[in-house]
Amino acid sequence: MSNLSHSQYVRSTYVDKAIEAIKKLYSPCRLCGQNCNIDRNKNEMGLCRVDSGKNNIKIASHTLHFGEEPMIVGSGGSGTVFFSHCNLRCVYCQNHQISHSGLGEIISIEKLAEYFLDLQSSGAININLVSATHVLYQVLHALKIAIQNGLTIPIVYNTNAYDNIESIAALQNVVDIYLPDIKYLDNAYSKKYSNAKNYFDIAINNIKLMYEQVGAISFDENNNAKKGLIVRHLILPNNISSTYDILIALSENNLKDITLSIMSQYTPQYMASKYEELNTIISEKEYDDIIDYASELGFENILAQDFDSQSNYLPDFDKNKPFDD
Ligand code: SF4
Repeated sequence: MSNLSHSQYVRSTYVDKAIEAIKKLYSPCRLCGQNCNIDRNKNEMGLCRVDSGKNNIKIASHTLHFGEEPMIVGSGGSGTVFFSHCNLRCVYCQNHQISHSGLGEIISIEKLAEYFLDLQSSGAININLVSATHVLYQVLHALKIAIQNGLTIPIVYNTNAYDNIESIAALQNVVDIYLPDIKYLDNAYSKKYSNAKNYFDIAINNIKLMYEQVGAISFDENNNAKKGLIVRHLILPNNISSTYDILIALSENNLKDITLSIMSQYTPQYMASKYEELNTIISEKEYDDIIDYASELGFENILAQDFDSQSNYLPDFDKNKPFDD
């Protein structure tokens, strides 16, 4: 420890604390709302089907990503690591190659730390952990190694928000920017389409705790996000995502100064065609009305998408650079 700067030492101490807390949720596994309670130390598989053991991790991609919200991307790109597998089972998942089919490469924790540092050296303005809920124990170990070897850029926790609230509590002072989804308000829909029986209750409580930890987005001198909360909401067709009610719920929970990213990009992917109600897209008018409503409710920072840009967001994880044409 003596070779570490003060800030490295402080940051790595916070990560140590987080590791201790996450260890308690790791096996039997209660890292997310699925509460599988399986013995991860014996490589038992839960709903997320993660099977790479305690000292390894499966990742689908590590790349400079330019398709996130502007303050997350900056000029250098977001140093994004997509973790294989997922704790939800969304029938319309656009990342199903990695989340459901488990595409990816198993690497050591030390290798993941190297990837974090490589991304920083390549100009990434942050490390963006995409779907790390189920591998948080391994990710924290890798972060600790990377911090001790010079990782200084902000950490983004990019999640479907179906985390155990104790996981989010453990991430205080480790995560700088939270990027959670809020997918459903109706728990019957979350069960039917994502196999998450109490999604909204878990997600809203996690989001409130994230806000307590990091507050609204703040920026560095280059206008890049350095700390704060950005909530993403993907509008599903036929009001399956209860978008208006979600906006009201966020507003009633005093979250009007968060950055709210309202996404129009839904297209029927994966198994969506089997569900008539999901086998369509929303209209431009529906989208515009929702943006207007969010504004009327008093949300101060709304990020809207270019309505015709659906195909820009469809990755192919069989390619080295999943988001390039
Ligand atoms: S992280 Fe995976 S094994 Fe653990 S509770 Fe969630 S779905 Fe189950």
